[in-house]
Amino acid sequence: MDRKRIYLSSPTMHGEEQEYVKEAFDTNWVAPLGPNVNAFEKEIAAYTDCGHAAALSSGTAAIHLALKLLDIKQGDVVFVSDLTFSASCNPIIYENASPVFIDAEPDTWNMSPEALKKAFEKYPSPKAVICVHLYGTPAKLKEIMEICGEHGVPLIEDAAESLGSTYQGKHTGTFGKYGIYSFNGNKIITTSGGGMFVSAEEEAAKKVTFYATQSRDPARHYQHSRIGYNYRMSNVTAGIGRGQLLHLEEHKAGKKEIYRQYQEAFADMPEITMNPLNPESDANCWLSCMTIGEGCAVTPDEVMDALEGINAESRPIWKPMHLQPFFAAYDFIAHNEDGSSVGEDIFNRGLCLPSDIKNTDEDMELIIRTVRECFKK
Ligand SMILES: *Cc1c(COP(=O)(O)O)cnc(C)c1O
Repeated sequence: MDRKRIYLSSPTMHGEEQEYVKEAFDTNWVAPLGPNVNAFEKEIAAYTDCGHAAALSSGTAAIHLALKLLDIKQGDVVFVSDLTFSASCNPIIYENASPVFIDAEPDTWNMSPEALKKAFEKYPSPKAVICVHLYGTPAKLKEIMEICGEHGVPLIEDAAESLGSTYQGKHTGTFGKYGIYSFNGNKIITTSGGGMFVSAEEEAAKKVTFYATQSRDPARHYQHSRIGYNYRMSNVTAGIGRGQLLHLEEHKAGKKEIYRQYQEAFADMPEITMNPLNPESDANCWLSCMTIGEGCAVTPDEVMDALEGINAESRPIWKPMHLQPFFAAYDFIAHNEDGSSVGEDIFNRGLCLPSDIKNTDEDMELIIRTVRECFKK
């Protein structure tokens, strides 16, 4: 195969990243603290208007420490989106707590408020709700916040995929008690690996920073009154993040344009539906996804194979957590009255299309033509 690879979503670097990294080297701030870390936190806080931020080694670490702040422990129940990447729920297991998976709804593919209500009837006192904004599309936050508020249960927003997305004009990640972002390699901006914990509460961000640096008490003699973690972001990777953040709006515009092109290209095909965008939101369109109409003989595997044939990377929809062997023992609350799973249906009929902002017009034409061909049988 000598055709160049078309990626799902690969890092897009601009040059400023290297300048911040060079500065870290020049000043010998090659450590898990330093001026880039502090500045990156301030810049994310300013961009999202989240209040306070703590830069960490990953988005997963940020979810883990959000659960630590809420004192989640063995026997506690945590409600979490079912249609997501496993990092949303793994930290619940790190604390020996029990996830209860909440089905998706068809309008945004995110946590179903109806299923969430049912979950509260069955489990009246969960310790937290973790809600994901899948593929960059904000969840039905108004409804979810209302339900959580009625029950007095804190909301953690897993905004790993939705940095830059807004809902009713406000950034995702800033609605819940705590929010998290990820800067993993294929996210909308990257630090190679990294994450951010955000909260309106300064005390929360301070505590997270404390836990992330081994919970060292303010004493000379290395004293620890509670368990600690080595989760801090390094000053070198924070430099990459600062350079990337300068281009986040541009990345978002590029992602939205990709989505628009797919939507337009498939508008005449009843067999193809693009992933939904919440009308109350401005989504970052991190990944453009499609589903194949019920009853259509074409499978997502066939489309993914055809794309592989032109050396283009695609990906299945995240496999719902309640279908994962590891999580099989935990409860699942369906959206539909008949108990069938919306997330499972999306997984069975969907796929993620190449959504790399470096795709050329020729790349996009070739992808679109290849997908259309699959349905001409
Ligand atoms: C990427 C991702 C995470 C985890 O972020 P890392 O930085 O890779 O640890 C969490 N949740 C979702 C939905 C993600 O897509």
